Amino acid sequence: MKEMPAANPIIFDKSKCMGCNRCMEICQVDIFLPNPEKGKPPIVAYPGECWYCGCCVMECPVEGAIELQHPLMNRVHWIEKRLLIEQGNE
Ligand code: SF4
Ligand code: SF4
Repeated sequence: MKEMPAANPIIFDKSKCMGCNRCMEICQVDIFLPNPEKGKPPIVAYPGECWYCGCCVMECPVEGAIELQHPLMNRVHWIEKRLLIEQGNE
């Protein structure tokens, strides 16, 4: 039986990633392991440890090769206070 991780913070686009491992090297909490297959994306070994800092995405030289997926509870939609007050008065 395959264990499902509680978090899935990193999505690689395998058609774009060239396996340079720069994302792996920059990650300060070491969630990645190098892929034994050369040219393939690193392995997300510890997804629950991700801080969602975005350093791996910023470090990647290939646009769109790596994407950060924030947990649902962190996807906040900000709304102006003025609009909230207006809505409350309707
Ligand atoms: S977002 Fe930050 S903590 Fe998470 S994998 Fe990327 S570099 Fe590591
Ligand atoms: S830095 Fe970008 S291209 Fe390099 S291994 Fe990571 S996702 Fe792939």
